[in-house]
Amino acid sequence: MFDQTTYFFRRAAKVMGIGERVQRLLENPQRVVKVEVAIERENGDLATYTGFRVQHNNARGPFKGGLRFHPTVDEDHSTALAALMTWKAAIADVPYGGAKGGINCDPRELSQGELEKVTRRFVQEVHEVIGPQRDIPAPDVNTNAQIMAWIMNEYSRINGFAPAVVTGKPVELHGSPGRDEATGLGVTFCIENWLARQNEEIKDKTYAIQGFGNVGNFLAHHLDQRGGKVVAVSDVGTALVNPKGLDVEAVRRHVDETGVLEGYKAAGTSEIPRDDLLYVDCDVMVPAALGGVFTKDNAKDIKAKLIVEAANAPTTPEADEYFENNGVVVLPDVLANAGGIIVSYFEWVQNIQQFRWELEDIRSKLNRFMGKACDTVYDLSDRKDISKRTAAYVVAIGRVGKATVLSGI
Ligand code: NAD
Repeated sequence: MFDQTTYFFRRAAKVMGIGERVQRLLENPQRVVKVEVAIERENGDLATYTGFRVQHNNARGPFKGGLRFHPTVDEDHSTALAALMTWKAAIADVPYGGAKGGINCDPRELSQGELEKVTRRFVQEVHEVIGPQRDIPAPDVNTNAQIMAWIMNEYSRINGFAPAVVTGKPVELHGSPGRDEATGLGVTFCIENWLARQNEEIKDKTYAIQGFGNVGNFLAHHLDQRGGKVVAVSDVGTALVNPKGLDVEAVRRHVDETGVLEGYKAAGTSEIPRDDLLYVDCDVMVPAALGGVFTKDNAKDIKAKLIVEAANAPTTPEADEYFENNGVVVLPDVLANAGGIIVSYFEWVQNIQQFRWELEDIRSKLNRFMGKACDTVYDLSDRKDISKRTAAYVVAIGRVGKATVLSGI
């Protein structure tokens, strides 16, 4: 995965004519922390996991990025995603560098008490390298507001009250209104902005969304509210399709009640195998689950002419090249899913100000930040005749490089 992000970085660096030494400086992470996370399980067994925090670059501000609890978490994964966060923060123009990390545990195998122990143990191991002005974690796959609350509490126990050490907290505990919907709503703004350039609107298009978790669920809701026709959604178990458009709110209620898409029944809606979602007829395909979804083997079978990367790193370099050569527009992850880091920034600012903003204020500020980022990237892409991804990296590398030079190496 690190190779994948490095590939996109190098492609943009080449367009910019950046020298090899500066490339190396910007490519490699500044710090990699690897810790043992040991807990006693409720049955008396000892469980040990490995935790990572990779801090890629802090030229533009404190490190910032998610924490993932998943058996596949490792150094390579965390390093790739940390670099993505550096570029994403720069494109969104929020004052952060990039970091990422997590623990290679499977939360489904842990009780709530054990999950809390694992989280607190991890904070005890890394508290010296995180902090409100140092490195600010956030939720990612399999981590949520409750886990962020434990992180805040454990860090504050050791270092004194510090709600700004972590974002994505519960609204009742120094979290921000609108953080839960931020990434999905940001993706919606990104699509809206792109379509407006073609004199089109969200209501003119059909959409398929892979993944119905935090991002996919809110994205479906906001597209539906604007009259967009969501024709297919999937989760880890199955996919639902209705060429006339799903009843998104009914699907969301079903998932609220049961936790999964499976078992949802409605006239005109059918279940298909999970991965077949990628090949349904639609105008816009949105991966909102995992990395590495589009590969050289399946790229040619995707019917959508617009791909919007709500997930991180869903497109391999080979698939990216295929899309570029075949008129498929890709709105890249570092731009499309930046809503999360933008509203995380709003949460951090509110924590530091000790002042709560209103939801409408947050939504309109998010729209402004996303609009500015989209305009910058789309304009550069048009002007230089380069893909949106390369344009996004050029913007990001330019900003991070400038901050590095101004600070002095
Ligand atoms: P989540 O854990 O809430 O949801 C993930 C969803 O994907 C679930 O519905 C799950 O069932 C589904 N899924 C898992 N494997 C699948 C498969 N093989 N096929 C179809 N669906 C599958 O995670 P999330 O927070 O919604 O994040 C989704 C993606 O968006 C990740 O790549 C994450 O890194 C990225 N992202 C999230 C945020 C955020 O604020 N949450 C911000 C930026 C990027």
